Amino acid sequence: MPISKLYTSAGPITRLGFGMMRLPVKEDQSIDRDLLAKMVGAAREAGVNYFDTAYPYMDGASEIVTGELLANYPRESFYLADKLPVWDIHSADDVERIFNEQLKKCGVEYFDFYLLHNMTASKLPSVEKYKMIDALDRQKKAGKIRHFGFSFHDTPEALEKMLGYYDWEFTQIQLNYLDWDLLDAKRQYEILTERDIPVAVMEPVRGGALATLSPAALDYLKSVDPAASAASWALRFAASLPNVYVVLSGMSTLEQVEDNLKTFSPFVPLSEQDYKTIAKTLEIYNASGSIPCTACRYCMDCPAGVDIPKNFGVYNRLLATKNEVEFLNSYNTLGAEHQAANCVGCGQCLDKCPQKIAIPELMPKIAERYNTIEKPSWFF
Ligand code: SF4
Ligand code: SF4
Repeated sequence: MPISKLYTSAGPITRLGFGMMRLPVKEDQSIDRDLLAKMVGAAREAGVNYFDTAYPYMDGASEIVTGELLANYPRESFYLADKLPVWDIHSADDVERIFNEQLKKCGVEYFDFYLLHNMTASKLPSVEKYKMIDALDRQKKAGKIRHFGFSFHDTPEALEKMLGYYDWEFTQIQLNYLDWDLLDAKRQYEILTERDIPVAVMEPVRGGALATLSPAALDYLKSVDPAASAASWALRFAASLPNVYVVLSGMSTLEQVEDNLKTFSPFVPLSEQDYKTIAKTLEIYNASGSIPCTACRYCMDCPAGVDIPKNFGVYNRLLATKNEVEFLNSYNTLGAEHQAANCVGCGQCLDKCPQKIAIPELMPKIAERYNTIEKPSWFF
């Protein structure tokens, strides 16, 4: 369907959407509501009208705070997207129960966009068994869902299969200039575009990795355009694709909101020269050999206590900066109980990782790297 068919009285969907996944937190790890209110206020003032939450985000608190903050605006002036936690459905009744709970948590009568969350081929038997699509189609017919789609983390083949299940109105895929070839985002985008299914983009900045890149890649981008942030290049890459109706950025600070708003005010699509700049950036970045973890935390909790994404985060930083002392400090800061060395190779995390990262193979390597680095005399 054409993108304009997704619009309601809220008007055209803004290219920048607010992902409510990585919200700012206070020292006690609770959501920093005051700061978030400022961030959402700034986004609304600049016209942002698309907000994307989900049942598990921020341990269930995202839906509540999203609903509370959006209650300050007329319901017909924004788009709200929410998602069914497919993995939490263990009976046909669960669909309606959780859906109604979500409406209540968000304080709304309907969702503009509703998705089967984190779809993979392995979840299809459960989707069929508990008739999730039929149940949500009924909610759509009842007016409680305006547009029905799914978010997706699997192969192009699995995507084709998924498309056969329903006349989907939109989809949400992971798309950024790193995954364009690495995780077949290009092919997925093409499949959806060929079928005229509008695309919402998640992880445009790869969980922040394309904002921090490696020092060499950052230096290169700065040499091309000193005023543009690395994140702005990544957002523009996704938003330049004609079948993309919204690019979701999981913003955690007011500075990120301001930087993103600058990127889209006004939005300038990538030029041919810009695509060459991105290709060169990628070449420099890939030379660091980073692990493609987006810090989504779907692999957690690990029964051995390993904080998987944090270990990948500190290791990637080492690969990018080659700063061994910083790595030693960061690894220690994870806390002995959360370090990679605790991995017992149970493999429980493997199927949960949308990026198909070989976690049980990599954890011992991270631990080994830590062990083999010569420690400075002052280290202990
Ligand atoms: S393989 Fe290692 S990291 Fe993964 S769940 Fe098991 S112990 Fe945790
Ligand atoms: S290892 Fe995979 S599942 Fe875990 S946080 Fe990283 S990308 Fe997400």
